[in-house]
Amino acid sequence: MTVLYTEQLLTTTGWVQSSRLHLDGARIAKIESDVAPKVGDERHQVIVPTMPNLHSHAFQRGMAGLAETRGRSEDNFWSWRDTMYRFASRMSPEHLQAIAAQAYVEMLEAGFGRVGEFHYLHHDIGGRRFGDPAEMVGRIAAAAGETGIALTLLPVFYAHASFGGQTPSEGQARFIHDVESYARLLERCREVVATLPASVVGVAPHSLRAVTPGELAAVVRMLPDAPVHIHIAEQQNEVRDCLAWSGLRPVRWLLDNAAVDSRWCLVHATHVDTGEIEAIARSGATVGLCPVTEANLGDGIFPAADFAAAGGQFGIGTDSNVCISLSGELSLLEYTQRLSLGIRNVIGLEGHSTGMALYRRALSGGGRALGAPQTGLIEGAAADLVSLSRREPAMICRSGDALIDSWLFATGGGVVDCVWVSGVKQIERGRHRSRDSVRDAYERTMQELCA
Ligand code: ZN
Repeated sequence: MTVLYTEQLLTTTGWVQSSRLHLDGARIAKIESDVAPKVGDERHQVIVPTMPNLHSHAFQRGMAGLAETRGRSEDNFWSWRDTMYRFASRMSPEHLQAIAAQAYVEMLEAGFGRVGEFHYLHHDIGGRRFGDPAEMVGRIAAAAGETGIALTLLPVFYAHASFGGQTPSEGQARFIHDVESYARLLERCREVVATLPASVVGVAPHSLRAVTPGELAAVVRMLPDAPVHIHIAEQQNEVRDCLAWSGLRPVRWLLDNAAVDSRWCLVHATHVDTGEIEAIARSGATVGLCPVTEANLGDGIFPAADFAAAGGQFGIGTDSNVCISLSGELSLLEYTQRLSLGIRNVIGLEGHSTGMALYRRALSGGGRALGAPQTGLIEGAAADLVSLSRREPAMICRSGDALIDSWLFATGGGVVDCVWVSGVKQIERGRHRSRDSVRDAYERTMQELCA
Protein backbone atom coordinates (compact mmCIF):
# COMPACT_ATOMS: atom_id res chain seq x y z
CA MET A 1 0.00 0.00 0.00
CA THR A 2 1.31 3.48 -0.91
CA VAL A 3 1.21 6.14 1.81
CA LEU A 4 1.36 9.80 0.86
CA TYR A 5 2.19 12.38 3.51
CA THR A 6 1.04 15.92 2.83
CA GLU A 7 1.26 19.13 4.81
CA GLN A 8 -2.16 20.28 3.59
CA LEU A 9 -5.01 18.20 2.26
CA LEU A 10 -8.29 19.41 0.80
CA THR A 11 -11.02 17.02 1.99
CA THR A 12 -14.77 17.10 1.48
CA THR A 13 -15.11 19.05 4.73
CA GLY A 14 -12.21 21.45 4.22
CA TRP A 15 -8.46 21.65 4.76
CA VAL A 16 -6.70 19.32 7.17
CA GLN A 17 -3.04 19.44 8.16
CA SER A 18 -0.23 16.90 8.34
CA SER A 19 -2.08 14.00 6.75
CA ARG A 20 -1.19 10.48 5.72
CA LEU A 21 -3.26 9.07 2.83
CA HIS A 22 -3.21 5.31 2.52
CA LEU A 23 -3.86 4.31 -1.09
CA ASP A 24 -5.18 0.82 -1.62
CA GLY A 25 -5.22 0.30 -5.38
CA ALA A 26 -7.62 2.78 -6.94
CA ARG A 27 -9.11 3.99 -3.62
CA ILE A 28 -8.17 6.05 -0.60
CA ALA A 29 -8.33 3.45 2.15
CA LYS A 30 -7.60 5.71 5.09
CA ILE A 31 -6.81 9.32 5.95
CA GLU A 32 -4.96 10.23 9.16
CA SER A 33 -4.57 13.90 10.05
CA ASP A 34 -2.41 15.86 12.50
CA VAL A 35 0.16 13.09 12.44
CA ALA A 36 3.89 12.99 11.74
CA PRO A 37 5.22 11.38 8.55
CA LYS A 38 6.67 7.89 8.80
CA VAL A 39 9.67 6.38 7.10
CA GLY A 40 8.71 5.31 3.60
CA ASP A 41 5.92 7.88 3.19
CA GLU A 42 6.01 9.78 -0.09
CA ARG A 43 6.09 13.44 0.92
CA HIS A 44 4.07 16.26 -0.63
CA GLN A 45 3.14 19.82 0.27
CA VAL A 46 -0.47 20.18 -0.85
CA ILE A 47 -2.95 17.61 -2.18
CA VAL A 48 -6.32 18.41 -3.74
CA PRO A 49 -8.75 16.37 -5.90
CA THR A 50 -8.24 16.22 -9.68
CA MET A 51 -10.66 18.29 -11.73
CA PRO A 52 -13.04 16.71 -14.27
CA ASN A 53 -12.77 18.13 -17.79
CA LEU A 54 -16.35 17.75 -18.92
CA HIS A 55 -16.05 18.69 -22.59
CA SER A 56 -13.28 17.94 -25.06
CA HIS A 57 -12.84 17.42 -28.79
CA ALA A 58 -9.34 15.96 -28.53
CA PHE A 59 -8.53 16.01 -32.26
CA GLN A 60 -8.90 19.80 -32.34
CA ARG A 61 -5.69 20.10 -30.27
CA GLY A 62 -3.84 19.56 -33.56
CA MET A 63 -5.26 22.76 -35.08
CA ALA A 64 -4.68 24.95 -32.04
CA GLY A 65 -3.39 28.30 -33.20
CA LEU A 66 -4.12 27.62 -36.88
CA ALA A 67 -7.33 29.63 -37.04
CA GLU A 68 -6.02 32.95 -35.74
CA THR A 69 -5.54 34.82 -39.05
CA ARG A 70 -8.19 37.34 -39.87
CA GLY A 71 -10.12 36.54 -43.04
CA ARG A 72 -11.64 38.89 -45.59
CA SER A 73 -15.00 39.04 -43.91
CA GLU A 74 -15.79 39.19 -40.21
CA ASP A 75 -14.44 36.02 -38.60
CA ASN A 76 -16.72 34.11 -36.29
CA PHE A 77 -17.53 30.63 -35.03
CA TRP A 78 -18.73 29.54 -38.47
CA SER A 79 -15.51 30.48 -40.29
CA TRP A 80 -13.53 28.69 -37.53
CA ARG A 81 -15.73 25.67 -38.10
CA ASP A 82 -14.80 25.60 -41.81
CA THR A 83 -11.11 25.46 -40.84
CA MET A 84 -11.86 22.68 -38.34
CA TYR A 85 -13.77 20.66 -40.97
CA ARG A 86 -10.82 20.93 -43.39
CA PHE A 87 -8.40 19.77 -40.68
CA ALA A 88 -10.67 16.87 -39.66
CA SER A 89 -11.17 15.75 -43.26
CA ARG A 90 -7.59 14.36 -43.55
CA MET A 91 -7.27 12.62 -40.20
CA SER A 92 -6.60 8.87 -40.04
CA PRO A 93 -7.29 6.68 -36.98
CA GLU A 94 -3.53 6.73 -36.19
CA HIS A 95 -3.49 10.53 -36.38
CA LEU A 96 -6.47 10.76 -34.07
CA GLN A 97 -4.84 8.54 -31.45
CA ALA A 98 -1.58 10.50 -31.50
CA ILE A 99 -3.31 13.87 -31.20
CA ALA A 100 -5.69 12.68 -28.49
CA ALA A 101 -2.80 11.23 -26.47
CA GLN A 102 -0.98 14.56 -26.67
CA ALA A 103 -4.11 16.42 -25.54
CA TYR A 104 -4.62 13.98 -22.64
CA VAL A 105 -1.02 14.32 -21.47
CA GLU A 106 -1.48 18.09 -21.36
CA MET A 107 -4.79 17.71 -19.49
CA LEU A 108 -3.21 15.48 -16.85
CA GLU A 109 -0.27 17.85 -16.48
CA ALA A 110 -2.79 20.67 -15.92
CA GLY A 111 -4.53 18.77 -13.08
CA PHE A 112 -7.47 17.19 -14.89
CA GLY A 113 -8.11 13.54 -13.98
CA ARG A 114 -11.08 12.66 -16.18
CA VAL A 115 -12.12 13.78 -19.63
CA GLY A 116 -15.56 13.84 -21.21
CA GLU A 117 -14.71 13.16 -24.85
CA PHE A 118 -17.52 14.46 -27.06
CA HIS A 119 -16.46 12.46 -30.07
CA TYR A 120 -18.00 12.95 -33.51
CA LEU A 121 -15.27 12.08 -36.00
CA HIS A 122 -16.63 8.58 -36.62
CA HIS A 123 -16.07 7.60 -40.24
CA ASP A 124 -13.17 7.29 -42.66
CA ILE A 125 -11.98 10.04 -45.01
CA GLY A 126 -14.79 11.14 -47.31
CA GLY A 127 -17.38 9.55 -45.03
CA ARG A 128 -16.60 5.95 -46.06
CA ARG A 129 -17.57 3.44 -43.40
CA PHE A 130 -14.92 1.49 -41.50
CA GLY A 131 -15.43 -2.27 -41.08
CA ASP A 132 -15.64 -1.61 -37.35
CA PRO A 133 -17.90 1.36 -36.52
CA ALA A 134 -15.76 1.92 -33.41
CA GLU A 135 -12.48 2.30 -35.34
CA MET A 136 -12.14 6.00 -34.43
CA VAL A 137 -13.75 5.82 -31.01
CA GLY A 138 -11.40 2.93 -30.23
CA ARG A 139 -8.49 5.31 -30.86
CA ILE A 140 -9.87 7.69 -28.25
CA ALA A 141 -10.06 4.80 -25.78
CA ALA A 142 -6.51 3.76 -26.71
CA ALA A 143 -5.21 7.30 -26.10
CA ALA A 144 -6.94 7.35 -22.71
CA GLY A 145 -5.46 3.95 -21.87
CA GLU A 146 -2.00 5.03 -23.02
CA THR A 147 -2.01 8.21 -20.91
CA GLY A 148 -4.05 7.01 -17.93
CA ILE A 149 -6.72 9.71 -17.98
CA ALA A 150 -10.14 8.45 -16.85
CA LEU A 151 -12.56 8.49 -19.78
CA THR A 152 -16.22 9.35 -20.04
CA LEU A 153 -16.82 8.53 -23.68
CA LEU A 154 -19.61 10.53 -25.27
CA PRO A 155 -20.11 9.25 -28.83
CA VAL A 156 -21.96 11.93 -30.73
CA PHE A 157 -25.15 11.39 -32.65
CA TYR A 158 -25.00 13.82 -35.58
CA ALA A 159 -27.52 13.53 -38.41
CA HIS A 160 -28.38 16.92 -39.93
CA ALA A 161 -26.89 20.23 -41.03
CA SER A 162 -29.43 22.39 -39.25
CA PHE A 163 -32.88 22.67 -37.67
CA GLY A 164 -35.70 20.81 -39.35
CA GLY A 165 -33.66 17.77 -40.39
CA GLN A 166 -31.61 19.43 -43.14
CA THR A 167 -29.31 17.26 -45.26
CA PRO A 168 -25.75 17.23 -43.89
CA SER A 169 -23.03 19.12 -45.75
CA GLU A 170 -20.00 17.47 -47.38
CA GLY A 171 -17.79 18.65 -44.50
CA GLN A 172 -20.00 16.70 -42.08
CA ALA A 173 -19.75 13.34 -43.92
CA ARG A 174 -17.43 11.80 -41.33
CA PHE A 175 -19.84 12.58 -38.45
CA ILE A 176 -23.16 11.20 -39.67
CA HIS A 177 -25.27 8.40 -38.18
CA ASP A 178 -28.89 7.30 -38.26
CA VAL A 179 -30.53 5.94 -35.12
CA GLU A 180 -29.83 2.30 -36.00
CA SER A 181 -26.15 2.75 -36.85
CA TYR A 182 -25.70 4.88 -33.72
CA ALA A 183 -27.16 2.10 -31.57
CA ARG A 184 -24.56 -0.28 -33.02
CA LEU A 185 -21.79 2.25 -32.37
CA LEU A 186 -22.93 2.63 -28.77
CA GLU A 187 -22.78 -1.11 -28.25
CA ARG A 188 -19.20 -1.20 -29.56
CA CYS A 189 -18.27 1.82 -27.39
CA ARG A 190 -19.15 -0.13 -24.27
CA GLU A 191 -16.89 -2.93 -25.45
CA VAL A 192 -13.90 -0.73 -26.34
CA VAL A 193 -13.84 0.99 -22.93
CA ALA A 194 -14.43 -2.21 -20.96
CA THR A 195 -10.77 -2.61 -20.05
CA LEU A 196 -10.25 1.03 -19.03
CA PRO A 197 -10.51 1.58 -15.27
CA ALA A 198 -13.45 3.75 -14.13
CA SER A 199 -14.64 4.42 -17.68
CA VAL A 200 -18.18 5.60 -18.40
CA VAL A 201 -20.17 5.72 -21.66
CA GLY A 202 -22.87 8.33 -22.21
CA VAL A 203 -24.86 9.59 -25.17
CA ALA A 204 -24.36 12.88 -26.96
CA PRO A 205 -26.97 14.22 -29.35
CA HIS A 206 -24.74 16.86 -30.96
CA SER A 207 -27.11 19.86 -30.83
CA LEU A 208 -30.69 20.73 -31.66
CA ARG A 209 -29.31 21.72 -35.06
CA ALA A 210 -28.04 18.21 -35.77
CA VAL A 211 -30.91 16.01 -34.54
CA THR A 212 -34.66 15.92 -35.06
CA PRO A 213 -36.99 15.71 -32.02
CA GLY A 214 -37.68 12.03 -32.75
CA GLU A 215 -33.97 11.22 -33.02
CA LEU A 216 -33.25 13.10 -29.81
CA ALA A 217 -35.81 11.07 -27.90
CA ALA A 218 -34.52 7.79 -29.36
CA VAL A 219 -30.87 8.56 -28.51
CA VAL A 220 -31.62 9.65 -24.93
CA ARG A 221 -33.55 6.40 -24.35
CA MET A 222 -30.64 4.19 -25.43
CA LEU A 223 -28.75 4.38 -22.12
CA PRO A 224 -31.40 5.29 -19.55
CA ASP A 225 -29.08 6.10 -16.63
CA ALA A 226 -26.03 7.42 -18.44
CA PRO A 227 -24.88 11.00 -18.94
CA VAL A 228 -26.50 12.96 -21.79
CA HIS A 229 -24.45 15.80 -23.26
CA ILE A 230 -25.64 18.29 -25.87
CA HIS A 231 -24.30 21.55 -27.33
CA ILE A 232 -26.96 24.16 -26.72
CA ALA A 233 -27.24 27.89 -27.45
CA GLU A 234 -23.55 28.48 -28.16
CA GLN A 235 -24.18 31.01 -30.89
CA GLN A 236 -26.66 33.84 -31.46
CA ASN A 237 -27.30 32.42 -34.96
CA GLU A 238 -28.30 29.15 -33.34
CA VAL A 239 -30.81 30.93 -31.10
CA ARG A 240 -32.22 32.82 -34.08
CA ASP A 241 -32.52 29.66 -36.21
CA CYS A 242 -34.16 27.75 -33.36
CA LEU A 243 -36.68 30.56 -32.88
CA ALA A 244 -37.46 30.50 -36.62
CA TRP A 245 -37.89 26.70 -36.54
CA SER A 246 -39.86 26.28 -33.33
CA GLY A 247 -40.82 29.68 -31.94
CA LEU A 248 -38.68 28.87 -28.90
CA ARG A 249 -35.11 29.54 -27.82
CA PRO A 250 -32.91 26.38 -27.72
CA VAL A 251 -32.77 25.92 -23.94
CA ARG A 252 -36.50 26.56 -23.61
CA TRP A 253 -37.28 24.13 -26.42
CA LEU A 254 -35.13 21.45 -24.81
CA LEU A 255 -36.62 21.89 -21.34
CA ASP A 256 -40.15 21.79 -22.77
CA ASN A 257 -39.54 18.74 -24.96
CA ALA A 258 -37.12 16.47 -23.09
CA ALA A 259 -37.05 15.18 -19.53
CA VAL A 260 -33.93 17.17 -18.62
CA ASP A 261 -32.60 16.17 -15.22
CA SER A 262 -29.30 15.58 -13.43
CA ARG A 263 -28.13 13.18 -16.18
CA TRP A 264 -27.89 16.09 -18.56
CA CYS A 265 -25.05 18.42 -19.36
CA LEU A 266 -25.94 21.50 -21.39
CA VAL A 267 -22.67 22.48 -23.03
CA HIS A 268 -22.26 26.17 -23.89
CA ALA A 269 -25.64 27.31 -22.59
CA THR A 270 -24.18 30.71 -23.41
CA HIS A 271 -27.26 32.54 -24.63
CA VAL A 272 -30.00 32.18 -22.02
CA ASP A 273 -32.63 34.53 -20.64
CA THR A 274 -33.62 34.82 -16.98
CA GLY A 275 -36.41 32.26 -17.22
CA GLU A 276 -34.08 29.75 -18.87
CA ILE A 277 -31.38 30.28 -16.22
CA GLU A 278 -33.83 29.49 -13.44
CA ALA A 279 -35.34 26.55 -15.29
CA ILE A 280 -31.94 24.91 -15.90
CA ALA A 281 -31.05 25.35 -12.23
CA ARG A 282 -34.37 23.73 -11.21
CA SER A 283 -33.89 20.81 -13.62
CA GLY A 284 -30.70 19.67 -11.87
CA ALA A 285 -28.78 19.63 -15.16
CA THR A 286 -25.15 20.76 -15.24
CA VAL A 287 -24.07 23.57 -17.51
CA GLY A 288 -20.80 22.83 -19.29
CA LEU A 289 -18.71 25.99 -19.53
CA CYS A 290 -15.59 26.20 -21.67
CA PRO A 291 -14.42 29.77 -21.06
CA VAL A 292 -11.16 29.67 -23.05
CA THR A 293 -12.76 28.19 -26.18
CA GLU A 294 -15.87 30.34 -25.81
CA ALA A 295 -13.59 33.40 -25.72
CA ASN A 296 -11.49 32.11 -28.62
CA LEU A 297 -14.59 31.57 -30.76
CA GLY A 298 -16.30 34.80 -29.74
CA ASP A 299 -19.33 32.89 -28.47
CA GLY A 300 -20.40 35.28 -25.73
CA ILE A 301 -20.50 35.28 -21.93
CA PHE A 302 -22.67 32.90 -19.94
CA PRO A 303 -24.42 34.68 -17.04
CA ALA A 304 -22.66 32.52 -14.46
CA ALA A 305 -23.31 34.88 -11.55
CA ASP A 306 -27.09 34.73 -12.00
CA PHE A 307 -26.95 30.99 -12.59
CA ALA A 308 -24.89 30.37 -9.45
CA ALA A 309 -27.25 32.58 -7.45
CA ALA A 310 -30.16 30.45 -8.72
CA GLY A 311 -28.41 27.36 -7.35
CA GLY A 312 -27.29 26.08 -10.77
CA GLN A 313 -24.56 23.47 -11.23
CA PHE A 314 -21.68 23.98 -13.62
CA GLY A 315 -18.44 22.29 -14.64
CA ILE A 316 -15.61 23.27 -16.94
CA GLY A 317 -14.28 21.86 -20.18
CA THR A 318 -11.37 22.55 -22.51
CA ASP A 319 -13.55 21.98 -25.62
CA SER A 320 -11.41 22.90 -28.66
CA ASN A 321 -8.23 22.45 -26.57
CA VAL A 322 -6.80 25.63 -28.07
CA CYS A 323 -4.94 26.10 -24.76
CA ILE A 324 -5.20 23.35 -22.13
CA SER A 325 -5.21 24.93 -18.69
CA LEU A 326 -7.23 24.18 -15.59
CA SER A 327 -6.31 27.46 -13.91
CA GLY A 328 -6.91 29.27 -17.20
CA GLU A 329 -10.48 27.95 -17.54
CA LEU A 330 -11.50 28.76 -13.97
CA SER A 331 -9.83 32.17 -13.82
CA LEU A 332 -11.30 33.20 -17.18
CA LEU A 333 -14.75 32.07 -16.05
CA GLU A 334 -14.49 34.49 -13.14
CA TYR A 335 -12.80 37.25 -15.15
CA THR A 336 -15.46 37.32 -17.87
CA GLN A 337 -18.06 37.86 -15.15
CA ARG A 338 -15.98 40.67 -13.63
CA LEU A 339 -15.56 42.33 -17.04
CA SER A 340 -19.23 42.16 -17.89
CA LEU A 341 -20.54 43.17 -14.44
CA GLY A 342 -17.84 45.64 -13.34
CA ILE A 343 -17.40 44.00 -9.94
CA ARG A 344 -14.88 41.62 -8.34
CA ASN A 345 -15.16 38.17 -6.71
CA VAL A 346 -18.38 37.24 -8.48
CA ILE A 347 -18.59 33.45 -8.06
CA GLY A 348 -18.51 32.88 -4.34
CA LEU A 349 -19.95 33.92 -1.06
CA GLU A 350 -19.23 36.95 1.08
CA GLY A 351 -16.13 36.43 3.17
CA HIS A 352 -15.10 33.29 1.31
CA SER A 353 -12.47 32.46 -1.30
CA THR A 354 -13.50 32.86 -4.93
CA GLY A 355 -10.95 30.32 -6.14
CA MET A 356 -12.29 27.73 -3.74
CA ALA A 357 -15.90 28.42 -4.79
CA LEU A 358 -14.92 27.94 -8.43
CA TYR A 359 -12.94 24.78 -7.68
CA ARG A 360 -15.58 23.12 -5.55
CA ARG A 361 -18.44 23.93 -7.91
CA ALA A 362 -16.58 22.74 -11.01
CA LEU A 363 -15.50 19.58 -9.18
CA SER A 364 -19.01 18.69 -8.17
CA GLY A 365 -20.72 19.72 -11.44
CA GLY A 366 -18.05 18.10 -13.61
CA GLY A 367 -18.12 14.82 -11.70
CA ARG A 368 -21.88 14.61 -11.86
CA ALA A 369 -21.96 15.45 -15.58
CA LEU A 370 -19.40 12.75 -16.37
CA GLY A 371 -21.19 10.01 -14.45
CA ALA A 372 -18.43 9.89 -11.82
CA PRO A 373 -19.72 11.93 -8.87
CA GLN A 374 -16.81 13.42 -7.05
CA THR A 375 -16.95 16.09 -4.41
CA GLY A 376 -13.58 15.71 -2.81
CA LEU A 377 -11.20 13.51 -0.91
CA ILE A 378 -12.59 11.20 1.72
CA GLU A 379 -11.91 7.64 2.86
CA GLY A 380 -13.29 5.23 0.26
CA ALA A 381 -13.18 7.79 -2.57
CA ALA A 382 -11.24 7.25 -5.78
CA ALA A 383 -7.58 8.14 -5.41
CA ASP A 384 -7.74 10.92 -8.02
CA LEU A 385 -5.28 13.41 -6.63
CA VAL A 386 -3.19 16.42 -7.60
CA SER A 387 -0.23 17.54 -5.53
CA LEU A 388 0.75 21.19 -5.80
CA SER A 389 4.20 22.58 -5.29
CA ARG A 390 5.04 25.78 -3.43
CA ARG A 391 8.18 26.30 -5.55
CA GLU A 392 6.38 28.92 -7.68
CA PRO A 393 6.91 32.37 -6.18
CA ALA A 394 3.16 33.08 -6.10
CA MET A 395 2.61 30.01 -3.88
CA ILE A 396 5.09 30.96 -1.16
CA CYS A 397 3.57 31.54 2.30
CA ARG A 398 0.11 30.45 1.10
CA SER A 399 -2.05 28.00 2.98
CA GLY A 400 -5.64 26.76 2.85
CA ASP A 401 -7.97 28.54 0.42
CA ALA A 402 -5.24 31.03 -0.52
CA LEU A 403 -3.39 28.14 -2.19
CA ILE A 404 -6.28 27.68 -4.61
CA ASP A 405 -6.71 31.42 -5.15
CA SER A 406 -3.01 31.81 -5.91
CA TRP A 407 -2.89 28.76 -8.18
CA LEU A 408 -5.88 29.92 -10.23
CA PHE A 409 -5.28 33.66 -10.33
CA ALA A 410 -1.58 34.25 -9.73
CA THR A 411 0.37 31.55 -11.57
CA GLY A 412 0.49 30.35 -15.15
CA GLY A 413 -0.74 27.04 -13.82
CA GLY A 414 2.72 25.50 -13.46
CA VAL A 415 2.29 24.39 -9.87
CA VAL A 416 1.01 20.87 -10.53
CA ASP A 417 3.63 18.50 -9.17
CA CYS A 418 2.10 14.99 -9.26
CA VAL A 419 -1.22 13.58 -10.48
CA TRP A 420 -2.71 10.19 -9.61
CA VAL A 421 -5.72 8.72 -11.41
CA SER A 422 -7.33 5.69 -9.77
CA GLY A 423 -4.27 5.51 -7.53
CA VAL A 424 -1.76 5.38 -10.40
CA LYS A 425 0.75 8.20 -10.57
CA GLN A 426 0.74 9.56 -14.12
CA ILE A 427 2.48 12.90 -13.53
CA GLU A 428 5.65 13.44 -11.53
CA ARG A 429 7.44 16.79 -11.14
CA GLY A 430 4.92 18.25 -13.57
CA ARG A 431 5.72 15.79 -16.36
CA HIS A 432 3.71 12.88 -17.68
CA ARG A 433 5.65 9.60 -17.54
CA SER A 434 5.24 9.20 -21.33
CA ARG A 435 5.53 12.87 -22.22
CA ASP A 436 8.44 12.45 -24.65
CA SER A 437 7.17 9.43 -26.57
CA VAL A 438 3.67 10.92 -26.87
CA ARG A 439 5.14 14.20 -28.07
CA ASP A 440 7.29 12.43 -30.69
CA ALA A 441 4.30 10.52 -32.08
CA TYR A 442 2.35 13.78 -32.11
CA GLU A 443 5.15 15.49 -34.07
CA ARG A 444 5.18 12.75 -36.70
CA THR A 445 1.41 13.06 -37.03
CA MET A 446 1.48 16.82 -37.41
CA GLN A 447 4.22 16.60 -40.04
CA GLU A 448 1.95 14.30 -42.06
CA LEU A 449 -1.17 16.43 -41.57
CA CYS A 450 0.62 19.69 -42.32
CA ALA A 451 2.53 18.38 -45.39
ZN1 ZN B 1 -17.94 21.26 -28.21
